[in-house]
Amino acid sequence: MTRPLTRVDPAMPAGAYQTFQAVHPTDETVVAACQSVGCQAYAKGWDTAVDEATPLGMAQARYIRQESGRSFRELKTDGGLTVFRFESGQRCFADHHTKPTVYLVRGGDWRANLGLIRPHVRAAIGSSTSQSTRTN
Ligand SMILES: [Zn+2]
Repeated sequence: MTRPLTRVDPAMPAGAYQTFQAVHPTDETVVAACQSVGCQAYAKGWDTAVDEATPLGMAQARYIRQESGRSFRELKTDGGLTVFRFESGQRCFADHHTKPTVYLVRGGDWRANLGLIRPHVRAAIGSSTSQSTRTN
C-alpha cells in the first residue's frame, strides 16, 4: 500500500522550477564494479576451489597465480583441491550487471515538463568528480 502523495502548493509557475531526476532505463544494463552492486565477495573476501588434476583446474590455477593480479592464500583440502582464499576489497571474478542511472535536470516541476536542461554523470550536483579532497 502506498501513501497518498502530498505536495505543497507551488508559489511560482512551473517555469520557475527545475526538477532533478534519477532515471533507470529499463531495457539496458551495464557492467558495474563490485562496490556499486554490494558484492559480498568484494566485501568479505571469497574462496575459489579448483581441481588441478583437470585441465580446467590447471588453467584456472595458472590464471589466478600468474594473471589475476589479486592477493590470495593457497590452501589444500583433504580431497586434493586447491583453495585460493582472496582477501576482501578486491574485484571478484564475476561480471556484475546493473541498470544504469541517468541523472537529469529538466525545466518545470510536477505540473509541467519543460524539457531537458542538462544530464549529469553523477548524482552530485555541481561536482565534476565523486571524490573530493578537503585540506584544513
Ligand atoms: Zn564482485
